[in-house]
Amino acid sequence: MIHLKNEREIQGLRASADLVGRTLGAVATAVRPGVSTIELDRIAESFIRDHGAKPAFKGYKVGREVFPATLCTSVNDEVVHGIPGETILKDGDIVSVDCGVLLDGFYGDSAYTFAVGSISDETQNLLATTYDSLMLAVGQATTGKRLGDIGAAVQELCEERGYGVVKDLVGHGIGRSLHEDPQVPNYGRAGSGRKLKTGLVICIEPMINFRSPHVRTDGDGWTVKTSDSLPSAHYEHMVAVRPGEAEVLTTFRYIEESLDVLPYKQFADAAHG
Ligand code: MG
Ligand code: MG
Repeated sequence: MIHLKNEREIQGLRASADLVGRTLGAVATAVRPGVSTIELDRIAESFIRDHGAKPAFKGYKVGREVFPATLCTSVNDEVVHGIPGETILKDGDIVSVDCGVLLDGFYGDSAYTFAVGSISDETQNLLATTYDSLMLAVGQATTGKRLGDIGAAVQELCEERGYGVVKDLVGHGIGRSLHEDPQVPNYGRAGSGRKLKTGLVICIEPMINFRSPHVRTDGDGWTVKTSDSLPSAHYEHMVAVRPGEAEVLTTFRYIEESLDVLPYKQFADAAHG
């Protein structure tokens, strides 16, 4: 069942979304060769709790599995749902950081793939294309468009460049629950699927693999990896469907401000989402 949000609810979601953006900004200041993913997790958890919110992923259950951390940190061939731990990030790695918060009854959810030190041009192109595909998809989240328009925007750009669009995992509605209807696939046919209505709030989150779209789940029960062990990127925004132009509730502004002070600024010319 789809729950369209009124302006008061969107106000609540805007606050949660902003906190996720600021948390990822705090994480961004620490992403560098030599840092462990559990250190990133500690930074995020303290930041969220210091702002009167709770980490949304910690304790999240799927079947009998309970997610143990604040962030999902997915390195290189890990697509999503990586568990923070003693893994030390190295120069040339990429790490996808997904963060969820619960603030005053409303969830926020956003993700960003960081370059660690300097990465290869081909990996940089994967990140840039995934990022661009998210922005194109966000541009489709307007009243009267269809879910297929969002998926098609991601799929067309990424497949045209030879990348694999993950189909086993999708975006979602969000509100007083972390995952609500509808599912928001990163593939589809323009003009098909459910019509988007004003007040629909969704997470659009392309997960794009360097080559094969196929994935498998690791023995830890959570970590999703590419089947060919090549890298994968993930960016996620929460958007409210509006007439004419979507309202992007999350922001990468804090992340990109943090990256500005580091020697390896990403996406120098990218518009802030
Ligand atoms: Mg997420
Ligand atoms: Mg999500």
